[in-house]
Amino acid sequence: MNKEDFDIIEGNPQYFELDNNGRSNGAIAIISKNTLPLITKKKLKYTEPSNWNKAFENKKLFEKCHIIAYSLSAKIANPKNIFIGTVKLNKSYMKKVENEVKKHINDKSVKILYRVNVKYKGTNKIPIGVLIEAQSIDDSYSVCRFCYNIQRGKNFRYSNGMIVGEQQIWSKVVQTVANKIARKNNRKSGYINYTINTKTKTFHLYDNDCKQLQNAEPKNIQETTATEKDLLAVGLKYCKNCVKDK
Ligand SMILES: [Zn+2]
Repeated sequence: MNKEDFDIIEGNPQYFELDNNGRSNGAIAIISKNTLPLITKKKLKYTEPSNWNKAFENKKLFEKCHIIAYSLSAKIANPKNIFIGTVKLNKSYMKKVENEVKKHINDKSVKILYRVNVKYKGTNKIPIGVLIEAQSIDDSYSVCRFCYNIQRGKNFRYSNGMIVGEQQIWSKVVQTVANKIARKNNRKSGYINYTINTKTKTFHLYDNDCKQLQNAEPKNIQETTATEKDLLAVGLKYCKNCVKDK
């Protein structure tokens, strides 16, 4: 890590620009107790990574993976923060490091500089893995781990994510899955996210560009898919401005 890496603002992850092939590349963030989500809901609204294929859905192979995990940053929808990774990479290899980092933050109350680089070979659409580096500001903790984008028992092409041996039925699968997803999404329309200001203990309509949030410090801002009822239940108040606009 370089000295300027520590200039990152807490609560405001810097996502690297997409490359010439439209692929997400990584991000750097300061993770602390302030940036850990106040409330965690299982159902997160994910944007699609570039090169995502509807046929990847329900295959138990690829997932839309966060570069900086929601469990560390409380930030949801940013196409630069999402890439195509295997279930094993997402739920096992990356999760392990993320949990370690989270535990250290909770145990020691330190801030951790956290950087992830997504590595591709050539113009492949699927990365070969991610390099995760984390270092606490007080130097009491550091980790550097390369997590491979692999899935035991599944062979796929990194160029396009196609499972080897499944080419023939591919187009049929694309159509069926795409239809299924379209139907499912219709049922889910009207699903609202809120933005929480942890300092004022208020929540705001996501995408409302609320005046009350404009001068807030990034470290006090969290995004959530929790419902209004859930947020009221943990003692947060609905922003009066946002209620007016609703
Ligand atoms: Zn508001």
